[in-house]
Amino acid sequence: MLASPVSPPSTFDAEAVRASVPALHQSVNGRPLVYLDNGATTQKPRPVIDRIVRYYERENANVHRGVHRLSQDATDAMEAARERVGAFVGVDAREVVFTRGTTEAVNLVASTWGRENVRSGDELVVTMDAHHANFVPWQMLAEAVGARLRVVPVREDGSLDRDAYAAALSSKTRLVALGHVSNALGTVHPVADLVAMAHDAGALALVDGAQALAHVPVDVRAIGADFYVASAHKAYGPMGIGALFARADLLEAMPPYQFGGDMIDEVTVERTTFAAPPSKFEAGTPHVEGIVGMAAALDWLDGLGRDAVFAHEHDVLAYATARLDALGGIRLVGTAPGKVSVLSFLVDGAHPYDVGALLDQQGVAVRTGNHCAQPLMTHLGVPGTVRATFAVYNTRADADVLVAAVAKAQAMLVG
Ligand code: PLP
Repeated sequence: MLASPVSPPSTFDAEAVRASVPALHQSVNGRPLVYLDNGATTQKPRPVIDRIVRYYERENANVHRGVHRLSQDATDAMEAARERVGAFVGVDAREVVFTRGTTEAVNLVASTWGRENVRSGDELVVTMDAHHANFVPWQMLAEAVGARLRVVPVREDGSLDRDAYAAALSSKTRLVALGHVSNALGTVHPVADLVAMAHDAGALALVDGAQALAHVPVDVRAIGADFYVASAHKAYGPMGIGALFARADLLEAMPPYQFGGDMIDEVTVERTTFAAPPSKFEAGTPHVEGIVGMAAALDWLDGLGRDAVFAHEHDVLAYATARLDALGGIRLVGTAPGKVSVLSFLVDGAHPYDVGALLDQQGVAVRTGNHCAQPLMTHLGVPGTVRATFAVYNTRADADVLVAAVAKAQAMLVG
């Protein structure tokens, strides 16, 4: 038995939480599933599933254009969800644009605000640990308009090189694109400080909160972000829905992203005028069941108590990290103080993919590879990592299964 240098388990009732998440209760390869791929997507609790079923059983109709009762109910449900989702991160409903997720939200900003405001000779600042979704759209924009993309390196532990960030900012900077929490390493960046530095340089700031929403407090106003983007499915909600949270004055000034129904004011043969935001950015039939499911997921998380959730996750991550490290022959990748959710590592002498495959045989679901962060992997000089990502329903017992499975894989692959 390995000694654990970390504190005893918290009193948080993770077993009760697990009981309400059906997908966790199944076997994989003849073993009870231990789901540690929450960075890719979380499993859904019963109240979220029930909310989506109720929508289809009782409320389904197209929104915004019907006088009939069901259409009004669906519209009310969608707009109530917009209020709820906005309130979760501290913004008004009119600052919430629903998108397919983080990826679409970044692309929306790059191709509307970006195309209007970034010119040849301007600079965009991104970070080396960015997910491709918050890297490639800026690289493409820079290429298209002749702007320069400046990439700020991270240190060995995964924290941002603050001096390099300060040095990258100048009067030429139009926008900085930051990650709130790194999906590959779990680093929590000091986004409020970094945004303030961007503003001091006269730039706007977009913060990618895909990995933050479920794991750290998010207050978009306190962070000061001009744009904040997130996906529901990484925070216990449905796939295919997420949001762009943006300052109302920016949304007002930005041109539409797509054209069609629901986003217009008036259409004549000669010309078209557009609806006010957020509708201006939501062309076509929206993903209503996703929207109400997203609100239900955030309600569920708040119902558990966000502080208690984060403390529980911290306990499990610290416990798992200490136990894994104690195996020996393990390289932890990303050790920044205050990191959350993510345990990225390499087994000396083994390829991450082989480790992942052997863990799967033991019922343990982890992710292997570059985690859509290839510039970071190249920067750190690793081929990729094995990544276990923890969520509210994971326990120390899950960590024990992970560590035992890694020890077995190590014995098989390294001898
Ligand atoms: N940003 C980060 C930090 C992520 O982890 C992810 C998904 O893994 C994304 C963006 C893209 O999110 P989505 O695929 O939901 O659009």
